[in-house]
Amino acid sequence: MTCFTLRASGLICPTGGELRYHLVMKPGMSSLSCYRGRFAPSPTGPLHFGSLVAAVGSYLDARAAGGEWLLRMEDVDEPRSMAGAADAILRDLESLGFAWDGEVAYQSRRTAHYRAAFERLRLDGSVFACACTRREVADSTLGPDAAPRYPGTCRNGLPPGREARAWRLKVGPGMVCFDDALQGRVCQDLAAEVGDFVVLRADGYFAYQLAVVVDDAEQGVTHVVRGADLLDSTPRQICLQRRLDLSQPNYLHLPAVVNAAGEKLSKQTRARPVDAIHPQASLVAALEFLGQLPPADLMGADLEDLWRWAIMHWNRSHLPRCRIAQAPAEF
Ligand code: GLU
Repeated sequence: MTCFTLRASGLICPTGGELRYHLVMKPGMSSLSCYRGRFAPSPTGPLHFGSLVAAVGSYLDARAAGGEWLLRMEDVDEPRSMAGAADAILRDLESLGFAWDGEVAYQSRRTAHYRAAFERLRLDGSVFACACTRREVADSTLGPDAAPRYPGTCRNGLPPGREARAWRLKVGPGMVCFDDALQGRVCQDLAAEVGDFVVLRADGYFAYQLAVVVDDAEQGVTHVVRGADLLDSTPRQICLQRRLDLSQPNYLHLPAVVNAAGEKLSKQTRARPVDAIHPQASLVAALEFLGQLPPADLMGADLEDLWRWAIMHWNRSHLPRCRIAQAPAEF
């Protein structure tokens, strides 16, 4: 990495963020690192095994590299956020022994930042107002995997008599590709598969795609480690980063956790909340899911020892190289 400008207080990253010294040294590891990771749960319900895996994976990848780990509550979608869920997630993370750097960021308090980015896009003609309803888009063109693709109805102006609802980013032709640290090279023909996508929603909230890009850049995030259920969103985010002249973080998409029916764990699929009262069992299960195999005696160890082992032994090459994997039965 090309980021090492040493200062008394730490390191200056290309993104301008300062990083601290890491907590646990691995043998042979440099004592300085330029890595800022994050965990960004949506507070739509309690922490479940799927979100725990993303938390553990992003935490260990950051700490093993000597990096920082930030926490961001992705409550930009206020209608979907559940009262009390953000606090419950924070309490659970604390009980599970996670230690984050700095203050927790809340997307619901960052609207001005999203608006500034949106205004930039509007002024340079990158976005347009769209009158189409969800139903109209769903009833129109389908992309290759049968997902609705925006057919460009309002790209050149609203149809007569229709009113603006959402704002969409104009997507140009060509593949958007990136090298994922686990999944390898990923490419998407955004125009053919997704089409112009929403950045400001009909209900007035900024879309997740815009918020995440603005936040990752402004928070100086250098590495995004998250579930592969978001792999399809990454080309949209890269497209936005390019339009907004923001640097592109490194990506690593962990296998997304599914239940026995192959459904992604979520509140809708009635995923069980993680047991933060007995954190060892949940953490060991998450480590095993990630191919990191703690010795049996660590199950009874105290949390600090478990984390110390996990940071020391974190090994990306043991991660399962797949996009989805099944949760253990108890989750
Ligand atoms: N908030 C998203 C979720 O909980 C994660 C977004 C991200 O990591 O970029 O699924």
